[in-house]
Amino acid sequence: MKVVYLDHAATTPVRAEVIEAMLPYFRDKFGNASSVYGFGREARKALDDARQKTADILNAGFNEIVFTGGGSEANNLAIKGAAWEYRHKGGHIITSGIEHHAVLHPMQQLEKEGYEVTYLPVDDQGLISVEEFANAVREDTILVSFMHANNEIGVIEPIAQIGAITKERGILFHTDAVQAAGMLDIDVKKLNVDMLSLSAHKFYGPKGVGALYVRKGVRLVPLIHGGSHESRRRAGTENVAGIVGLAKALELADAEREAVVPKIQRLRDRLIDGILQIPNTRLNGSREQRLPNNINVSIEFIEGESLLLNLDLMGIAASSGSACTSGSLDPSHVLMALGLTHEVAHGSLRLTLGRDNTDAEIDYVLEILPPIVQRLREMSPLYSS
Ligand SMILES: *Cc1c(COP(=O)(O)O)cnc(C)c1O
Repeated sequence: MKVVYLDHAATTPVRAEVIEAMLPYFRDKFGNASSVYGFGREARKALDDARQKTADILNAGFNEIVFTGGGSEANNLAIKGAAWEYRHKGGHIITSGIEHHAVLHPMQQLEKEGYEVTYLPVDDQGLISVEEFANAVREDTILVSFMHANNEIGVIEPIAQIGAITKERGILFHTDAVQAAGMLDIDVKKLNVDMLSLSAHKFYGPKGVGALYVRKGVRLVPLIHGGSHESRRRAGTENVAGIVGLAKALELADAEREAVVPKIQRLRDRLIDGILQIPNTRLNGSREQRLPNNINVSIEFIEGESLLLNLDLMGIAASSGSACTSGSLDPSHVLMALGLTHEVAHGSLRLTLGRDNTDAEIDYVLEILPPIVQRLREMSPLYSS
């Protein structure tokens, strides 16, 4: 059976070019980048090249890149590292209610430690209000963290405008750009951010490796203490192959972005328009301020989980919200923040496209989905009444 993979926000396959670039660092070039002999110098050179490439794409400096064990770690390092370092300046932090759990849960930990966190609401389109943000800033605000693009509903937040305010007020600004990388411009200067998180497996690189941009002059208390790796910001022998893979994947994504994005966006629009033909459906999140690869719809009178199982039987891999919350019966915190009821939030479907999806696959989904929805609705007591 053919498989149509429509869950690229959860993870992406590793591209062949990326695997090729990584392989030598598992085989003959296995040295420890801290060793002085040839093997070590080879690994060091690979790390340096990867760091420079990553920095160039972010419009950052070589020493402003810290490699981590993924996007979650990058977010934790930015948030806890900055909050701990700048505790003497104040204890107030601002974020939004629709962040990834890798931002929300560190925030909750900081609250236990005595910090005060403001969770800004979003409007019914999923957008943060710049004005509401400006009003939430206080004398003791030390850190702000807003995601560049949301992983569930694909909404793109006004990062550059918020950054203009934090810059003027001298407040540190972190953005989780894990979903934005490969789809949007992630130039840290244009975005006015002090810290920015990336994760390789969301842009066709390997899992378990990420990066945090940290603007020169910003200090962080490390999460992992040990050797002096990553300029004392993240101890541990470097994951050379993984880091090489991250840089290669980011380089390819950046080089191909202008060609790939319009193609993906056209498929997205076909899917959105096609699904909205089904009665009692709605698009979640702004249609305009939206990632080119994200579709998130609520389909009334059905259960998202049953829909996913039925799609899976037909070879379609999709998600009913955040991959991290599937398996739990709580409705998505992001969909609830948009003002959806529990029932409507439970009947949501997220499809996220990638560079290899085709028009034929979109045709297939649009052929398979309406009868499945019809069948599920006919079994639902809510629908008949
Ligand atoms: C996937 C994701 C993360 C976590 O990244 P990992 O590398 O899987 O730890 C963080 N934030 C967002 C928005 C994500 O989509």
